[in-house]
Amino acid sequence: MSRVAARRLEGEFHARVAAARADERVLSAIRLATLHKVTSRAAGMAELHDAEALRNLAAAIRRHALEYLPHYLEQFVDAAERRGAQVHFAVDAGAATRLIGDIAARSGARLAVKSKSMTSEEVALNDALAARGVEVVETDLGEFIVQIDADRPSHIVTPIIHKDRHQVAASLSRTLGRAVPADPTVITAVAREHLRERFRRADLGITGANFAVAETGSICLCTNEGNGRMTLTRPRVHVALVGIEKIIPRLADLAVFLKLLARSSTGQPLTVYTTLITGPRGSAEPDGPEQVHIVLLDNGRSRLLGGPAAEVLACIRCGACLNACPVYRNIGGHAYGGVYPGPIGSVLLPLLGGLERHAALPRASSLCGACRDACPVKIDIPGQLVRLRAESQALQPLGKRLAMWLFGVVAARPILYRAAQWLIRHAPPRGPDGWTRASFGRFAPWMHCRDLPPVPRRTFRRLWRDELEREA
Ligand code: SF4
Repeated sequence: MSRVAARRLEGEFHARVAAARADERVLSAIRLATLHKVTSRAAGMAELHDAEALRNLAAAIRRHALEYLPHYLEQFVDAAERRGAQVHFAVDAGAATRLIGDIAARSGARLAVKSKSMTSEEVALNDALAARGVEVVETDLGEFIVQIDADRPSHIVTPIIHKDRHQVAASLSRTLGRAVPADPTVITAVAREHLRERFRRADLGITGANFAVAETGSICLCTNEGNGRMTLTRPRVHVALVGIEKIIPRLADLAVFLKLLARSSTGQPLTVYTTLITGPRGSAEPDGPEQVHIVLLDNGRSRLLGGPAAEVLACIRCGACLNACPVYRNIGGHAYGGVYPGPIGSVLLPLLGGLERHAALPRASSLCGACRDACPVKIDIPGQLVRLRAESQALQPLGKRLAMWLFGVVAARPILYRAAQWLIRHAPPRGPDGWTRASFGRFAPWMHCRDLPPVPRRTFRRLWRDELEREA
């Protein structure tokens, strides 16, 4: 990709940010919800005997599983197939949608119900199935609203974090052709009644997976609305689209992740429904699907294994880093321009979708470290962002690269550094109180959200020297 194309994409990112910043209603909904989640997470984690030790254990299990991923994938496939599941590998998004389209065609499915799955968003599954004549109905309430509004999720756990109850009620009223009051209890009951009929009629159920257990070949699904359980038990055929990185070694490891997942996400001790499915319905079992297909998706993940970015595959999609991030709270999820928003999106999108396409994202961070502190599996997101910034340096405009080069030259040479300090102290363009609040030309956007304080009369070196002299 040329620098011109990269700059055009960066311009589009800035336009999305400006649009998000202009919508105060969206921003206040996001701020309210994320700050509530931050408080709830802190309370939930405080209930644990030793949250830090549990986070360390979770991080170690995820890193071990990734290090030996080929082994655990093989073990998972063996165990799942022994229990009657059919396992497929999809190298990329196209392969995944083709495979699932073929499964739908073979089973004669015309209507599919689906629970929330970021992986299916990643491969644009709904559009691909619609093109093959299969109607897909989202059954998570948030995703259902996203679908009827032809919108996109704004958060990986709370897809409509950017909408308030009045907007949700308006969407439902428009779709169902009757007035739905902006009362959460009524909204939920109306959506439930509408979706129940789809569950009855659907012959294909599509889910993702929070975890895939190598030891038993089981898929674990964590939801709060019960729609995931309905999706995988009611239709004849169940398809789980699972990123290969979701593998954990043992069933016992689930205890570690379940304790952390909901707490990190919403502060709950556990999600309301935690469902494990191991193969299709047995002859003595009263419910469950007749066929279980597990589609293991690579789509760029295996490329990261063994490299400096491998740790991002440890992500369990809890959303805590989004809630903790001051940048996400001020621009929302849509501004990121991809399926995965927030700090983890700023790393995942460039890694999976190409750094050239998402070169602006590693810079959409203050590097404050709140994401790393909130992450239950201790992914060093700021470290990854800095690494991606360095890698995308070549895509930056010439003026910016020259400025950074010049800064590097000056900062590494004390005599030049001191000269630059003298120049800045004697430079004229400041406000009457000494603060610099605006700039011009290419510096103007950079200064849009920044104020520079007055330059101190004495430098740090000078202060230090004076201090030493006083002590002597
Ligand atoms: S990076 Fe960490 S905090 Fe962010 S979604 Fe993934 S697991 Fe959660």
